[in-house]
Amino acid sequence: MELLKERIRRDGKVKGTDVLKVDSFLNHQMDVELFQEMGKEFKRRFAGCEVNKILTIEASGIGIACVAAEYFHCPVIFAKKSQTKNIAGDVYTTKVQSFTHGKVYDVIVAKEFLGPGDKVLLIDDFLANGAALEGLARLVKDSGAELVGAGIVIEKAFQPGGDRLRAEGLRIESLARVKSMSEETGVEFVD
Ligand code: 5GP
Repeated sequence: MELLKERIRRDGKVKGTDVLKVDSFLNHQMDVELFQEMGKEFKRRFAGCEVNKILTIEASGIGIACVAAEYFHCPVIFAKKSQTKNIAGDVYTTKVQSFTHGKVYDVIVAKEFLGPGDKVLLIDDFLANGAALEGLARLVKDSGAELVGAGIVIEKAFQPGGDRLRAEGLRIESLARVKSMSEETGVEFVD
């Protein structure tokens, strides 16, 4: 998606070798008009697919998931990061390794919101090693719902998550795929 790639080139900040900061339009301040275009593009790419729930993970996926949901005309569920050790039986739960913080945390979704018969699209801001997406896919599988695919805003294609999950059969649509990046030369895209 050219508009997004231009914005990343202009406002993205590369930190070290593998972190892209896009706080000015995606992860802190949010450009909702750009989100509208991204939501429209997800809908175009998944046109013809039946989707009745969008699932994301708190916190940074929630904004884009909500805007995308306006185009799919469905509710958004966000998997909550849980501190609770004794998790009640009325939730699906799995562990996710955080890319940005390094630690492993539990995420939960209440069973009342996801189950057999649901057709689920996953939405997230970034795809790196694939842990977040894999965790969400496990929650969908545990619930008996159908996983339609995943919409990602920025995929860092030089990291292994995208290739691995596509090889496992997950349909992933990424709006911008980063081939390489460095603090000196900035961001280069796959196509
Ligand atoms: P993964 O689980 O695929 O390794 O990482 C995806 C998650 O980590 C996303 O939900 C996102 O919040 C965060 N993340 C991964 N890489 C980046 C990055 O380069 N920049 C930012 N801002 N977040 C990232």
